[in-house]
Amino acid sequence: MPKKFICKRCGECCKSTPRLSEKDIKRILATGISLNSFCEEINGIKYMKNANNQCICLGTDEEGMHYCMIYDARPEICRQYPSEDIEDCRPKKTAFDRYLEEKRKDG
Ligand code: SF4
Ligand code: SF4
Repeated sequence: MPKKFICKRCGECCKSTPRLSEKDIKRILATGISLNSFCEEINGIKYMKNANNQCICLGTDEEGMHYCMIYDARPEICRQYPSEDIEDCRPKKTAFDRYLEEKRKDG
């Protein structure tokens, strides 16, 4: 993440589906939450679970600002976002996001 980047806490980047490495999984499990509560496997690859089209760990405070409920243990890919100092860092939905949405619907 660029040094001068200031997150507006809109939560848009947490509507996608972070892929989880084994290291990510171990770090999150160490917080005491169970594997089933945050992790799902699609075609042999592990991801953060998604509920209502957002990461299961995305929270909203009383002022409507978003936050990560597992911030200190969040996946590596979340730590690196955004990788560039850009004006609008809200990610666009990709074909892969749509593919995963369809897979979840299929169960
Ligand atoms: S899209 Fe950008 S501003 Fe919004 S929560 Fe993510 S990093 Fe922060
Ligand atoms: S783990 Fe946290 S930072 Fe990563 S997508 Fe989920 S809510 Fe956002």
